[in-house]
Amino acid sequence: MTYHLTRFCLLIAVSIIVLLNMFFTFTLWWLILPSVIYLACLIYGSSVIQANFFAPAYCSANTSEKIIVLSFDDGPHSEYTPQVLALLANYEATATFFVIGKHIHGNESLLKQMITEGHGIGNHSYSHSFFIDFKNVQGFKDELNQTAELVFSIIGKRMKLFRPPYGVTTPNLVKAAKLLDYRLIGWNIRSFDTTKDSVEVITQRVQSQIKLGAIILLHDTSDKTIQVLEQILIFVQQQGYKIVSIEQLLNINSYEYDLPHDYTDTQLRDGSVAKFVSLIDNHRF
Ligand SMILES: [Zn+2]
Repeated sequence: MTYHLTRFCLLIAVSIIVLLNMFFTFTLWWLILPSVIYLACLIYGSSVIQANFFAPAYCSANTSEKIIVLSFDDGPHSEYTPQVLALLANYEATATFFVIGKHIHGNESLLKQMITEGHGIGNHSYSHSFFIDFKNVQGFKDELNQTAELVFSIIGKRMKLFRPPYGVTTPNLVKAAKLLDYRLIGWNIRSFDTTKDSVEVITQRVQSQIKLGAIILLHDTSDKTIQVLEQILIFVQQQGYKIVSIEQLLNINSYEYDLPHDYTDTQLRDGSVAKFVSLIDNHRF
């Protein structure tokens, strides 16, 4: 069920009730029923990104390969992101970090480290405010652009992946993302690693759901996640899964004007990628 289909169904239901009221003794109190159903659909569609209610989002991949994706939201964090990066390096795993713009200040070197170590970076808004979903289209564009410019100034790449804060989508958010040519990225395994659940409970929750093409949501913001991550890395290795980037899983580009993977690794260190992107930016057609 999509937003447009839901609105169409509401319109039909309201029209039928009004017509019945005009020609028969049918009370208009019945209008409450489709209104409540419509509201319930809106709440469900906004809060469950996998519902693809306002717009399609990438939440997993259909694949026959034993590959999965690890994604980390809400960083970079000066204490925990380096520990996540160290663990990923130990287990030769790549991940995608959906960064919050206001958390980047003072942690610029972590973003450079992510790129040089083969990880991906996506946009997770600038403020991640609790009230962000009340913003209008321009408000969301500002959130995305502020973080995008900051990241570009550090790694020389323009992000094209966007994970909505809290996984909540709204018509304004979707419109802003579309205007700025972002792809919405969700997940199909939520760890709930920011709750009070124990390391064991969170680890078990994730491990029990792991399947081909899964995208796992974690947060590089707490010691608990570090412990959970190590358990997950050991488990997936034992199960024969390979941890890949979102780009590899979904066969999409994470950045504007992206370059082949082998080019990126070697050229980033001497700044050639930044120069290349700037060159194209200055000669847009
Ligand atoms: Zn978040």
